[in-house]
Order: sequence, then structure tokens, then C-alpha cells
Amino acid sequence: MPISFRKHEEFFTFHDPMQDEKLIDRKTEIRFDPLTGETSRIIFDPGAPFIPKDYSQLAKETEGVKCPFCAENVSKITPRFPDELVEGGRFIAREAIVFPNLFPYSKHNAVVRMSNQHYVKPEEFTEELIADSFKAAHQYIEKVLEFDNQTEYVSINWNYLPPSGGSILHPHIQVLASEQPTNYQSAITTNSHSFYEKEGENYLTSLVSEERNLGERWIGHVGSISWLHAYAPKSHYDFIGIFEAASFDELGSGNYEDLAKSMLRFFLYFKEQGVESFNAVMHIPVKKHAAEQVHFRLVPRMTIGMLETSDMNVFNFLQGEPLSLKSPETVAKEVGKFFNEGK
Ligand SMILES: [Zn+2]
Repeated sequence: MPISFRKHEEFFTFHDPMQDEKLIDRKTEIRFDPLTGETSRIIFDPGAPFIPKDYSQLAKETEGVKCPFCAENVSKITPRFPDELVEGGRFIAREAIVFPNLFPYSKHNAVVRMSNQHYVKPEEFTEELIADSFKAAHQYIEKVLEFDNQTEYVSINWNYLPPSGGSILHPHIQVLASEQPTNYQSAITTNSHSFYEKEGENYLTSLVSEERNLGERWIGHVGSISWLHAYAPKSHYDFIGIFEAASFDELGSGNYEDLAKSMLRFFLYFKEQGVESFNAVMHIPVKKHAAEQVHFRLVPRMTIGMLETSDMNVFNFLQGEPLSLKSPETVAKEVGKFFNEGK
């Protein structure tokens, strides 16, 4: 069996004031990512519910003339691409508008404004709105690849609502393209190639078969995408979608429609769980290679309690150690019911 799901359990012994000072052993479960070996910790869940924040008032205060992505401003004050890259400077695909990021993170960095509406609640997203935005991102990537043959790493990134790091409420996604990988792109690419050399198999498609057989973290198929929960999660949930496409050239409209359908199902689960904000990323290998696969990753973001404490702390940032209150196996089972074939 080429994929190994390894974990280490530790127990901390103390007198618990919540249980009549009884001496208890509290578990920390350290899980090793089957591809990279990086660890994540499943920690004790005191059971406090996640509480979503209502952004309706903030939406009223930030919409219209105050928002660069609202109709009043988007065609006037957002930047434009040079004509040799995009004729006319911007792409428009129904409500989706693609333009350069004024403060780029990468050699090529487009913003896709997703909707006319300033604040779109998760339950208000439609399949069309999400699919159109990702198709518009795809169109931009196509142009970048024609224009700059040095491009090796491409991703579509989504910060939704302020807890995720999103600085503008108006829904938008970002396309990054460069010859330089991010740490994640570097780790997944290098390790997937090592796995392929050693096992003669594609890691992500092997993971799909393995997880489907095991059933423990399997969520379900939506058309061309297989969904499962990460064994070593990056947050309280960590959903991985593996596409039936190895690289950019193999992606078509249907893939983005499947992604949009999937997102609406995750939003139903998030609603049930009191989660609103999230980070999501779609990794798209530029050149087809037997070791690589297009994939998506979705994690929740939130603030905690009255102080609106960040969900990211010293462990995530400086120790590089993701923490999860939830068991991946339990979450997979809970979310599975929205995908019809959950186990
Ligand atoms: Zn707006």
C-alpha cells in the first residue's frame, strides 16, 4: 500500500476542575500528511459552537461609491491590463469582471470581481455566479500562458469575508501566475514527483482510490471532481477536490460547473456548522505530467468568541503546525450527506 496514514497520540495528565478534579488523560493526536510528512494536530474540542458574524450592516457601510468593485466604480477606477495581454484592458463575462490587482502578489495577478451585488451571503451564491467567475479566471490564465511562456505555476485563490483575510466584502477571486512557486506549490509538486518516481503512480489520483476504498474520509463525486477530507488537515475542516484533469489544457467549462455545484453543497454544510468565511485555492499544473493533478482545497476561517479572536495563532504561523478541533472522519461523514453518497 503506497499511501500511509500515520499518526502519533500523546496524552497529558491533569486534574480537571470541570470533572470534579478527576485525574484525566487528554489526548493530542499528531497526524502526518501522507505526501509531505508535515504534521497537523487534532486537539481536544471543548464543544463551543462556531458562530457566524452578520455582515449586513458593514455591507451597507461599505457598498456603492465606497467600494471599488461596485458598479459605480468598477469600470472607472480598477486598473486595466496592457492591450497586448487583454484587448480593451478588462474581461467581462456576465457579472464577472477581470482586471489587474493594484497591489500584486505575483508576476501575473488578476482579480475577478464575481458579482454585481456588493455582499453575497453564502446561501445567495448561484452555480452560475461561481462558475462564470472561475471560467473568467481560466480565460485570463489562457492569455497569460500565451503571453508569457516562462509561467510554470498557476492558482486561483479565494478569500471570502474578512476573517479569511479578504479586505473587500465584495466577492472576488484572485489568479496568480509565475515561474516561482509558493511553498505549497513547491511542496506538492516536488513530493508528487518523488511519489511518482518511487511508486509509479500519481499521488492525488491514488489518494482518491485509497480514500474511496477506505470510506473514512471520502465525501463523494460531483461530476469530474472527487471530494475527500484531508487526513492531516490545515484547519478544523480541510476539503480536497481532485479533478479529472492533469493540467490547465484539460480543464473545460464542465469542470468549473462541477466546482460551483460542489461549493454550494459545502456552503450548506458551513451554514449548518455556523461557518461563513473560508479560504479556497485551485492548483492548476501548467504542463501535463503523470505525477500532477488539478486540485482544490477549502478550509473554514472564523473569529472566536466575544473578543473576535483570530483562528490563526503562533502554532499556525511560527510553528507551522495547523490545529483542528474536529476529527476529519466525523466531518467527512457530516458533510457527506450533502453529496448523496457520503458514508
Ligand atoms: Zn461592492
